[in-house]
Amino acid sequence: MPIYSYKCKKCAHAFDINQALSEDALTICPECKGNLIKVFGLGDVTFKGSGFYKTDNAASPPKNSSSSES
Ligand SMILES: [Zn+2]
Repeated sequence: MPIYSYKCKKCAHAFDINQALSEDALTICPECKGNLIKVFGLGDVTFKGSGFYKTDNAASPPKNSSSSES
C-alpha cells in the first residue's frame, strides 16, 4: 500500500498515511481543517525511477522560435 505524505497549507502540519490507490486523497487537515497538499518524494511513490521526467519537452531548449513571427 503506498504511503502518501500530506502537508497542511495553513498550519504546516505534515504527516504520512497509508492509503489504498482506490481511496480518495485527503484534502482536509486533521489539525485545523485547512487545505492539505500532497507531498511527493517520501516513501515508495510510484514515479521513482529512470526517465520519468526526462521527457523531450521538459528540459530541452526550443530549437528555434517557430512562432508566427515572419
Ligand atoms: Zn492544518
